[in-house]
Amino acid sequence: MERSVQYGKTKINFTLSRSKRKTLAIEVHPDLLVKVIAPIDASLKSIEDKVIKRGSWIIKQIQFFESFLPRTPKREYVSGETHLYLGRRYVLKVKKSDKSEVKLKGGGLLVFLKGNSKAQAVLAGWYKSHTEAIFIKHLKKNIQAFGNFGINEPPLSIKRMKRRWGSLTSTKNLILNPELIKTPVKCIDYVIIHELCHLIHPHHGKEFYELQEQMMPDWRRWKDRLERTTI
Ligand SMILES: [Zn+2]
Repeated sequence: MERSVQYGKTKINFTLSRSKRKTLAIEVHPDLLVKVIAPIDASLKSIEDKVIKRGSWIIKQIQFFESFLPRTPKREYVSGETHLYLGRRYVLKVKKSDKSEVKLKGGGLLVFLKGNSKAQAVLAGWYKSHTEAIFIKHLKKNIQAFGNFGINEPPLSIKRMKRRWGSLTSTKNLILNPELIKTPVKCIDYVIIHELCHLIHPHHGKEFYELQEQMMPDWRRWKDRLERTTI
Protein backbone atom coordinates (compact mmCIF):
# COMPACT_ATOMS: atom_id res chain seq x y z
CA MET A 1 0.00 0.00 0.00
CA GLU A 2 1.37 3.40 -1.01
CA ARG A 3 1.21 6.10 1.64
CA SER A 4 2.78 9.45 2.25
CA VAL A 5 3.33 11.91 5.08
CA GLN A 6 4.38 15.51 5.11
CA TYR A 7 7.61 16.16 6.99
CA GLY A 8 8.20 19.91 7.10
CA LYS A 9 8.24 20.87 3.45
CA THR A 10 9.14 17.40 2.25
CA LYS A 11 6.68 14.73 1.27
CA ILE A 12 7.86 11.28 2.27
CA ASN A 13 6.36 8.52 0.13
CA PHE A 14 6.50 4.99 1.46
CA THR A 15 5.10 1.56 0.95
CA LEU A 16 3.32 0.08 3.91
CA SER A 17 3.15 -3.60 4.62
CA ARG A 18 2.13 -5.51 7.71
CA SER A 19 3.75 -8.39 9.44
CA LYS A 20 3.51 -10.37 12.65
CA ARG A 21 6.04 -8.22 14.46
CA LYS A 22 5.85 -6.15 17.62
CA THR A 23 7.57 -2.99 16.48
CA LEU A 24 7.57 -0.86 13.39
CA ALA A 25 10.50 -1.05 10.96
CA ILE A 26 11.51 1.61 8.45
CA GLU A 27 13.92 0.81 5.62
CA VAL A 28 15.34 3.17 3.03
CA HIS A 29 16.58 1.32 -0.03
CA PRO A 30 19.30 2.42 -2.47
CA ASP A 31 16.65 2.97 -5.17
CA LEU A 32 15.19 5.58 -2.75
CA LEU A 33 12.19 3.45 -1.91
CA VAL A 34 11.03 3.82 1.70
CA LYS A 35 9.47 0.66 3.12
CA VAL A 36 7.55 0.61 6.35
CA ILE A 37 6.68 -2.70 7.94
CA ALA A 38 4.17 -2.37 10.75
CA PRO A 39 2.59 -4.70 13.29
CA ILE A 40 -0.74 -6.04 12.05
CA ASP A 41 -2.84 -4.11 14.55
CA ALA A 42 -1.02 -0.73 14.38
CA SER A 43 -3.32 2.14 13.42
CA LEU A 44 -2.52 4.20 10.35
CA LYS A 45 -2.26 7.30 12.51
CA SER A 46 0.35 5.74 14.80
CA ILE A 47 2.33 4.51 11.77
CA GLU A 48 2.28 7.94 10.16
CA ASP A 49 3.34 9.57 13.43
CA LYS A 50 6.30 7.21 13.68
CA VAL A 51 7.35 7.90 10.09
CA ILE A 52 7.20 11.64 10.77
CA LYS A 53 9.21 11.14 13.95
CA ARG A 54 11.94 9.43 11.93
CA GLY A 55 11.55 12.01 9.13
CA SER A 56 14.94 13.60 9.46
CA TRP A 57 16.69 10.22 9.48
CA ILE A 58 14.68 9.06 6.41
CA ILE A 59 15.57 12.20 4.47
CA LYS A 60 19.25 11.82 5.36
CA GLN A 61 19.20 8.22 4.09
CA ILE A 62 17.50 9.29 0.86
CA GLN A 63 20.06 12.05 0.32
CA PHE A 64 22.88 9.62 0.96
CA PHE A 65 21.63 7.14 -1.65
CA GLU A 66 20.69 9.92 -4.02
CA SER A 67 24.29 11.07 -4.20
CA PHE A 68 25.13 7.75 -5.88
CA LEU A 69 22.39 7.87 -8.50
CA PRO A 70 23.31 8.83 -12.06
CA ARG A 71 22.56 12.49 -12.71
CA THR A 72 21.27 13.99 -15.94
CA PRO A 73 23.73 12.93 -18.63
CA LYS A 74 26.62 15.32 -18.96
CA ARG A 75 25.95 17.88 -21.65
CA GLU A 76 28.34 18.33 -24.51
CA TYR A 77 26.38 21.01 -26.37
CA VAL A 78 26.56 19.34 -29.73
CA SER A 79 23.91 18.79 -32.41
CA GLY A 80 21.50 15.98 -31.66
CA GLU A 81 21.50 16.39 -27.91
CA THR A 82 18.13 17.17 -26.34
CA HIS A 83 17.43 20.07 -23.99
CA LEU A 84 14.28 20.95 -22.08
CA TYR A 85 12.41 24.23 -22.25
CA LEU A 86 8.98 24.85 -20.69
CA GLY A 87 8.24 21.16 -20.44
CA ARG A 88 9.18 20.32 -24.02
CA ARG A 89 12.24 18.49 -25.24
CA TYR A 90 14.08 20.18 -28.08
CA VAL A 91 16.82 18.80 -30.29
CA LEU A 92 19.91 20.96 -30.28
CA LYS A 93 21.36 22.07 -33.59
CA VAL A 94 24.60 24.01 -33.50
CA LYS A 95 25.59 26.08 -36.55
CA LYS A 96 28.25 28.64 -37.45
CA SER A 97 26.87 32.06 -38.26
CA ASP A 98 27.78 35.76 -38.34
CA LYS A 99 25.76 36.38 -35.19
CA SER A 100 25.54 34.38 -31.95
CA GLU A 101 21.90 33.71 -31.17
CA VAL A 102 19.39 31.03 -30.21
CA LYS A 103 16.10 30.28 -31.92
CA LEU A 104 13.34 27.80 -31.20
CA LYS A 105 12.01 26.37 -34.41
CA GLY A 106 9.69 23.39 -34.69
CA GLY A 107 11.13 20.84 -32.30
CA GLY A 108 14.59 22.31 -32.64
CA LEU A 109 16.72 24.51 -30.47
CA LEU A 110 18.98 26.24 -32.97
CA VAL A 111 22.19 27.71 -31.63
CA PHE A 112 24.08 29.99 -34.02
CA LEU A 113 27.67 30.70 -33.11
CA LYS A 114 29.80 33.58 -34.28
CA GLY A 115 33.56 33.04 -34.43
CA ASN A 116 34.82 31.12 -31.42
CA SER A 117 31.66 31.48 -29.33
CA LYS A 118 30.83 28.40 -27.33
CA ALA A 119 27.39 26.79 -27.60
CA GLN A 120 27.21 26.25 -23.84
CA ALA A 121 27.77 29.95 -23.07
CA VAL A 122 25.40 31.21 -25.77
CA LEU A 123 22.70 28.77 -24.69
CA ALA A 124 23.20 29.61 -20.99
CA GLY A 125 22.71 33.30 -21.78
CA TRP A 126 19.54 32.52 -23.70
CA TYR A 127 18.13 30.36 -20.88
CA LYS A 128 18.99 33.04 -18.33
CA SER A 129 17.23 35.89 -20.12
CA HIS A 130 14.15 33.76 -20.86
CA THR A 131 14.06 32.45 -17.30
CA GLU A 132 14.08 35.97 -15.84
CA ALA A 133 11.46 37.26 -18.28
CA ILE A 134 9.11 34.32 -17.81
CA PHE A 135 9.42 34.18 -14.01
CA ILE A 136 8.74 37.93 -13.71
CA LYS A 137 5.80 37.74 -16.11
CA HIS A 138 4.23 34.85 -14.21
CA LEU A 139 4.86 36.41 -10.82
CA LYS A 140 3.09 39.59 -11.94
CA LYS A 141 0.22 37.63 -13.48
CA ASN A 142 -0.31 35.48 -10.38
CA ILE A 143 0.01 38.27 -7.84
CA GLN A 144 -2.92 40.01 -9.52
CA ALA A 145 -5.16 37.09 -8.67
CA PHE A 146 -4.28 37.70 -5.01
CA GLY A 147 -5.66 41.26 -5.30
CA ASN A 148 -8.18 40.88 -2.46
CA PHE A 149 -5.52 39.82 0.01
CA GLY A 150 -3.54 43.04 -0.24
CA ILE A 151 -0.15 41.38 -0.52
CA ASN A 152 2.79 43.12 -2.14
CA GLU A 153 4.85 41.60 -4.90
CA PRO A 154 7.80 39.94 -3.15
CA PRO A 155 11.32 40.70 -4.41
CA LEU A 156 12.36 37.85 -6.71
CA SER A 157 15.70 36.14 -6.83
CA ILE A 158 16.60 33.25 -9.08
CA LYS A 159 18.88 30.82 -7.40
CA ARG A 160 19.80 27.20 -7.94
CA MET A 161 18.64 25.02 -5.07
CA LYS A 162 19.44 21.37 -4.77
CA ARG A 163 16.11 20.02 -3.65
CA ARG A 164 13.59 22.79 -3.95
CA TRP A 165 11.75 24.54 -6.75
CA GLY A 166 10.85 27.63 -4.78
CA SER A 167 10.99 29.12 -1.35
CA LEU A 168 10.11 32.18 0.64
CA THR A 169 12.74 33.63 2.94
CA SER A 170 11.94 34.91 6.42
CA THR A 171 12.22 38.41 4.95
CA LYS A 172 9.56 37.44 2.39
CA ASN A 173 11.79 37.29 -0.64
CA LEU A 174 10.72 34.80 -3.27
CA ILE A 175 13.41 32.44 -4.53
CA LEU A 176 12.77 30.40 -7.66
CA ASN A 177 14.98 27.64 -8.98
CA PRO A 178 16.12 28.45 -12.57
CA GLU A 179 15.64 24.76 -13.43
CA LEU A 180 11.88 25.49 -13.38
CA ILE A 181 12.31 26.92 -16.89
CA LYS A 182 12.58 23.31 -18.04
CA THR A 183 9.10 22.46 -16.72
CA PRO A 184 5.66 23.42 -18.12
CA VAL A 185 4.51 26.98 -17.41
CA LYS A 186 1.74 25.56 -15.22
CA CYS A 187 4.43 24.11 -12.95
CA ILE A 188 6.02 27.56 -12.73
CA ASP A 189 2.60 29.00 -11.84
CA TYR A 190 2.09 26.30 -9.20
CA VAL A 191 5.40 27.06 -7.46
CA ILE A 192 4.75 30.82 -7.54
CA ILE A 193 1.16 30.43 -6.28
CA HIS A 194 2.30 28.05 -3.54
CA GLU A 195 4.86 30.57 -2.28
CA LEU A 196 2.42 33.49 -2.60
CA CYS A 197 -0.06 31.54 -0.45
CA HIS A 198 2.70 31.38 2.17
CA LEU A 199 2.68 35.19 2.32
CA ILE A 200 -0.82 34.83 3.80
CA HIS A 201 -0.52 31.49 5.62
CA PRO A 202 3.11 30.69 6.57
CA HIS A 203 2.45 27.04 7.38
CA HIS A 204 0.94 24.11 5.51
CA GLY A 205 -2.28 24.08 7.49
CA LYS A 206 -5.88 23.63 6.40
CA GLU A 207 -6.28 27.32 5.56
CA PHE A 208 -3.15 27.24 3.45
CA TYR A 209 -4.44 24.35 1.34
CA GLU A 210 -7.89 25.92 1.02
CA LEU A 211 -6.32 29.08 -0.33
CA GLN A 212 -4.03 27.16 -2.69
CA GLU A 213 -7.02 25.18 -3.97
CA GLN A 214 -8.93 28.40 -4.56
CA MET A 215 -6.03 30.04 -6.43
CA MET A 216 -5.20 26.94 -8.49
CA PRO A 217 -7.83 24.19 -8.39
CA ASP A 218 -5.66 21.77 -10.41
CA TRP A 219 -2.49 22.33 -8.36
CA ARG A 220 -2.08 18.62 -7.58
CA ARG A 221 -1.55 17.79 -11.23
CA TRP A 222 1.34 20.24 -11.55
CA LYS A 223 2.84 19.31 -8.20
CA ASP A 224 2.87 15.66 -9.32
CA ARG A 225 4.47 16.64 -12.60
CA LEU A 226 7.24 18.45 -10.69
CA GLU A 227 7.76 15.46 -8.45
CA ARG A 228 8.34 13.33 -11.50
CA THR A 229 10.90 15.79 -12.85
CA THR A 230 14.53 15.32 -11.86
CA ILE A 231 16.80 18.30 -11.60
ZN1 LIG B 1 5.09 25.39 1.19
